Amino acid sequence: MLNFDFQNSTRIVFGRDTQNAVGELLKPYAKKILLHYGGSSIKKSGLYDTVAASLNANDIEFVELGGVVPNPRLSLVHEGIRLCKAENVELILAVGGGSVIDSAKAIAAGMYYDGDVWDLFETGRSTDGALPVATVLTIPAAGSESSMNTVITNEAIQKKLGYGNVHLRPCFSIVNPELFFTLPKNQIANGVADMISHIFERYFTNTTETDLTDGLCEATLRTIMKNALLVVKNPRDYDAWCQVGFGGTVAHNDLLGMGREQDWGCHGMEHELSAIYDVAHGAGLAVVTPAWMKYVYKSNINIFVQFAVNVMGVSGSFRNPDAIVMEGIERLSEFFKKMGLPSTLGQLGIDESNLELMAKKATREAYGKEYPIGGLKKLYWQDVLEIYRLAR
Ligand code: NAP
Ligand code: FE
Repeated sequence: MLNFDFQNSTRIVFGRDTQNAVGELLKPYAKKILLHYGGSSIKKSGLYDTVAASLNANDIEFVELGGVVPNPRLSLVHEGIRLCKAENVELILAVGGGSVIDSAKAIAAGMYYDGDVWDLFETGRSTDGALPVATVLTIPAAGSESSMNTVITNEAIQKKLGYGNVHLRPCFSIVNPELFFTLPKNQIANGVADMISHIFERYFTNTTETDLTDGLCEATLRTIMKNALLVVKNPRDYDAWCQVGFGGTVAHNDLLGMGREQDWGCHGMEHELSAIYDVAHGAGLAVVTPAWMKYVYKSNINIFVQFAVNVMGVSGSFRNPDAIVMEGIERLSEFFKKMGLPSTLGQLGIDESNLELMAKKATREAYGKEYPIGGLKKLYWQDVLEIYRLAR
């Protein structure tokens, strides 16, 4: 196990009706806020009205900026920074999913940076601070409600990059599983694929002596998978949503990765699909992940056997570990299919034409740098290309 330094300061206010308290929760932080949201879902569900009423009841003034799209765009982030500066906003309230929260975080960081906020994504440079961000989560998926990361697409150059900064952890997040009842099945599935991947990126490691976090990862994976099938069948199953909703937060609040080397190769490969083809992040991960597993598992076959046995319920002779691993991957693919997720690049509308370009972008080869991705196995552009080909 490696040394680690863990602090997750986001307050999670979880359960039925918790969104009604948003105004009261905001009071210690701000008198004037930006209410940031996406398309029409929060207006249709009535959440917008609930939040506005709670802000008014607590004398919190607000300006608003809607229109965040999945794979949130840099241009709207720029607009948000201008608006926050002009209106002297003190906090950004993101009401939505990972895209809205990430857009809010990018605006928050941009308020503490004099140049173009995109520089931060390109360089990874820190800032002295950020405007505080709070969230009302409407889709369990990205884990952005308690992560310190944001992922933004610079649409002008078809580049999707992540940026992490300790100041970007939301001060609080309201997670009410009742707000997930209106999610369409494809969005449920995308969200589940993403949270599962957040655990995989930490779980599949070469670090040894990690019994505790191995077990936490495995329990979280089993719980999410079991309950995900229940919410797809009945999107109003509150108890099952509680497990999936809390699972999504736990998957990405950093605890499961402590003391372990991490991977993040699948996220790197997926971001290239989203950047060019604007595919949903979770759908892209469902396609890339099984191919990645087949390509890399020999780098540490033990952890893949452990996954097959402890998470996917595979039994078999340990004289044939490869067969156990392949059965585990097969069962994971079956699970993704049951959730209605795609399993090939073709199903995402992606053909051969940009595979090499995407492989070179993912590893920065396209920008004149050699920057292999992945932790379990270092992936150069030729490896990434092979994995994309396996996923065709
Ligand atoms: P999302 O992109 O925020 O939302 C997906 C769709 O779901 C939107 O069209 C949204 O519609 C709809 N929706 C949300 N809540 C709904 C509800 N309750 N009822 C009906 N429809 C609803 O989804 P996400 O998966 O949470 O976020 C994806 C983004 O997060 C990607 O860009 C990904 O790269 C990023 N990500 C970030 C992190 C991180 O740590 N920051 C980690 C992993 C991934 P409306 O627009 O109409 O609301
Ligand atoms: Fe993700």
